[in-house]
Amino acid sequence: MERTSESDLVSLLAATRGVYKRIFGGVDPKIAVSAPGRVNLIGEHTDYNQGFVLPMALQMGTVVVGSPREDRIISIVTTAEETEEPKRVEFPVPMEGGALEPGEPRWANYVKGVIQHYEAGPLPGFSAVIASNVPLGGGLSSSASLEVATYTFLQQLRPDDGDPVTKALVCQKAEHTFAMMPCGIMDQFISVMGKEGHALLIDCRIPFRAGPTVKRLLRSLETHLVPLSDPNVVVLITNSNVRHILTGSEYPTRRRQCEEAAKVLGKASLREANMADLEASKALLSEEVYRRAKHVIGEIERTARAAEALQSKDYKIFGQLMVESHNSLRDDYEVSCPELDELVSAALEIPGVYGSRMTGGGFGGCTVTLLESGAAEKVRRHIEEKYSRTATFYLTQPSDGAKVHRLP
Ligand code: ADP
Ligand code: MG
Repeated sequence: MERTSESDLVSLLAATRGVYKRIFGGVDPKIAVSAPGRVNLIGEHTDYNQGFVLPMALQMGTVVVGSPREDRIISIVTTAEETEEPKRVEFPVPMEGGALEPGEPRWANYVKGVIQHYEAGPLPGFSAVIASNVPLGGGLSSSASLEVATYTFLQQLRPDDGDPVTKALVCQKAEHTFAMMPCGIMDQFISVMGKEGHALLIDCRIPFRAGPTVKRLLRSLETHLVPLSDPNVVVLITNSNVRHILTGSEYPTRRRQCEEAAKVLGKASLREANMADLEASKALLSEEVYRRAKHVIGEIERTARAAEALQSKDYKIFGQLMVESHNSLRDDYEVSCPELDELVSAALEIPGVYGSRMTGGGFGGCTVTLLESGAAEKVRRHIEEKYSRTATFYLTQPSDGAKVHRLP
């Protein structure tokens, strides 16, 4: 079982610096940054419904090292083996009025999107190497960690006003417009704002009358840190190592169904609705759309309660809410899969486990389990025995958001 630690990222940084030196003419990079992946403890598929989410930043993340250059060329290399060829992309700095376009290789779109939407003015050319120890496509948001690391790197080249909410929103926009993934705001928010020893309750509500400009929206997206540093409890992430092909197509469908339900209920979003509203309009909704809305409305409520339970160290209640969340995602929102269900059932069979659920978008990826520290090894062995495939385990602690590293 992998016990993640901050030093993993430091080692990754050192190795990436070596790669940079080999590729870019033997000189050391001047800039080094990192941004974490995340695991969501509870509040799934609620961010794009303006509800609550409760993620924590991981000790695993993406690093970007590099230096500015004089020739107005941007040259970027990834060390990730899982990504398609080529591993290196090169293009001129977009001039005023000019625009980058998404294209091939797809991995570079996350980076290009952030460059395109960076608001602080013209960038110099630069060379950079990207490396990550978040599993790619595993539901721990390697994509947001790549976007936020890229943005943090650009901030070193050409400082912006440092507003963390703008940063998260620009990274989300990159994912929407360059990776074509209509994601909510959770992943980028936690990768920017995570704090060691804490989960982060994010209120994803946008006030009804908020103006269209990013700056005005920002003030309404509130966050609250919830301590999670009790040595007696740990968070175990179990990667199912499956990713079903549905992932891409089902997400926008769920989003649309939620919007449809909100409209029928006469609400700006499902955040504004309660169960009584839903029951009152049941006859106007298809059975499927009803169940989608039921998940979202219930999950927003559960997440608020879970944050309170965590605040008062009531892990039992927290765990029960995790299980309810999983069941709702499985039965009403229908985004689980047999592998995730197997992992959750196996975890729940061991005493000392408070709760377990699928985490992230679904159809594969990871589960998250809250348990007594002493039970971790037993849980791992039991899951390994029960699971029909090979799982990967990470015992992890809440970590800080994006960082600039000083190179020794
Ligand atoms: P997740 O965010 O859950 O890991 P996504 O499908 O949203 O899964 O994002 C994974 C994609 O992000 C990869 O397929 C790749 O295109 C891109 N990506 C993530 N990390 C890196 C990296 N270090 N180098 C290049 N591309 C990366
Ligand atoms: Mg992602």
